[in-house]
Order: sequence, then C-alpha cells, then structure tokens
Amino acid sequence: MARYTGAVCRLCRREGMKLYLKGERCYTDKCSIKKRQYAPGQHGQGRKKLSEYGVQLREKQKARRYYGILEGQFRHYFELAEKKQGITGENLLSILETRLDNVAYRLGIGTSRAEARQLVRHGHVTVNGKKVNIPSFLVSVGDVITLKEASRGSEKIKTVLESTSGRSVPKWLDYNRDTLEAKVIAAPARDDIDLEIAEHLIVELYSK
Ligand code: SF4
Repeated sequence: MARYTGAVCRLCRREGMKLYLKGERCYTDKCSIKKRQYAPGQHGQGRKKLSEYGVQLREKQKARRYYGILEGQFRHYFELAEKKQGITGENLLSILETRLDNVAYRLGIGTSRAEARQLVRHGHVTVNGKKVNIPSFLVSVGDVITLKEASRGSEKIKTVLESTSGRSVPKWLDYNRDTLEAKVIAAPARDDIDLEIAEHLIVELYSK
C-alpha cells in the first residue's frame, strides 16, 4: 500500500497543529511546530484567509494525515461511512479508528501511527489468535487484539511498550495490561476519539 514518505513535520505545520506523527519527539521541545509556527514553503508566512472550500479541504487533509491514509482509501472509507446508519462524519472517524494500525497505536504498540503500522506489517500483532499483517484491517466488536507471543521478548518492542506505558486506552477497547490483550467491546463513538477534527466539514467537502 502506498503511503506518504515525505517530511512529516511539514504536515503538522501545514495544518497549523500537532498531528503527533513522530512519536516521542512530538512531546518534546524538538517539535517543529513549536519552533516554526507557520506553514511550510515559500509563501508559508503570508497565508491568506481560506475560502469555505479551503477550510473543508484542510479538515479532510488533517484527518487523512492523522491516520496516514492516501486520498483513494480515505474516499473509500467515506463511502463506507455513508452507507452506515447514523451521522456520516462520525461513522467515518469510527471506521478510521478501527483500522488495525490505529488500534495497535492506541494500545501503545507504536510510538506513532507510522511505527504501529510498521509493527503490524512485520507481523507482530494478532487478531483472534491469528497473525494479521494488514494495517488497514478493520477490527470488529468481539475481536481480541494482542502482541504475538514470540514478539514480546524483542528489545525493540519492549522499548516501545515502555515509552507508551502512560498512554490511556480508549474505553471501546477492554485492555488487559498484564496479558497485553485487548477486546473490542463497542464501536468507537465520537466521544472516544480525541482528535480535533470537524468531521462535518469533510462530509460537506465530499458532498459537493
Ligand atoms: Fe508534528 Fe510531531 Fe513533528 Fe511536532 S514533532 S511537528 S507534532 S510530527
């Protein structure tokens, strides 16, 4: 699956907010957005007021970048969200939250979503006892997600788990820190998703 491989701090500066794409660095004074509070590029310091379309576009880009998803797949998730009952914008975020790479990130298996994705891709995560190395796999209510037994002794994984041990796990995941197992007990609700995204703007954008 293709993914963005450019300088990620530029993405935060473009959106004018922290997207937490670099793991631990994001929580330190090294965070670029603290040092340069303007958009990247030649005209970054002279930005004009955004049009309605511009505001909607930025909101969509922000969501895409949080989750590290390219346009085509993001659109696909939007179409899935439209087909579900309920509020489309909330459905969209709920679907994005259930991606396996995001679930791994929420459980602390990765200091960033990019690292969580890599760990999933390398086969360190299981769903219902079976290795699943597809970051876009969508978990469902009842699924049990955990670290593969053989991966638990890895120094790299131990370091990651240690550095993320203070991260709180959303309540739709029933997580047992001793066994490192998490059961999906509900679909993620909007209140469970701590992202500063005005999802209705994404719906407006795609509804044009
Ligand atoms: Fe964004 Fe993290 Fe870079 Fe700060 S350090 S600009 S939060 S990716």
